[in-house]
Amino acid sequence: MSSAITIDDQDVLLAVDLQADFMPGGALAVEDGHTIVPLINALARRFAYVAVTQDWHPPGHASFASVHEGAAPFQSKRLAYGDQTLWPDHCVQGTAGAELHPDFALDAAFLILRKGMHPGVDSYSAFVEADGKTTTGLAALLKARGVKRIFACGLATDYCVAFSALDARAAGFETFIIEDACRAIDANNSLDAAWARMNAAEVWRIQSRELLD
Ligand SMILES: [Zn+2]
Repeated sequence: MSSAITIDDQDVLLAVDLQADFMPGGALAVEDGHTIVPLINALARRFAYVAVTQDWHPPGHASFASVHEGAAPFQSKRLAYGDQTLWPDHCVQGTAGAELHPDFALDAAFLILRKGMHPGVDSYSAFVEADGKTTTGLAALLKARGVKRIFACGLATDYCVAFSALDARAAGFETFIIEDACRAIDANNSLDAAWARMNAAEVWRIQSRELLD
């Protein structure tokens, strides 16, 4: 049993990719993805700073299996910057699938950060694109606002949430994943692998009750 965590104005809630295509019925559905939206709304009410990410790909994005001849979703392919898992077409700019969940209370958010917009480079992370060097500017923005701790939640635990959390740690933030406010894809053991990397990086795994109690 851990003691409650007190949220202050140096904390940010980072709500990752709560979009139609990642919800049941979407192009890249995460099981039970919609069930975390009310919980994230409750969490957002506790934070002075709420930042939101939105996967936002141009048509024909390099992460789509459909643009690689003979490739199928969930295969890995070597691209210019390294190995890339290929996905069904998802979160295409301006489509219904890219929209944030209608029940997600966005009013509390000071920022909606769109990512994955470069045609040839994916970006699971809210901080650094998949080439490992192109910054989104988010770390600098949060530091300029005095943020010290990042509390990440959303979809999916083992991809965009995990990559964002690892990059947040690398940028010097104390970083927490609110486990029950996330859902995972968990393909090819990806969830265990993500937790192993996050544990090694000292990304802290917490539950929402530690913030809400
Ligand atoms: Zn994507």
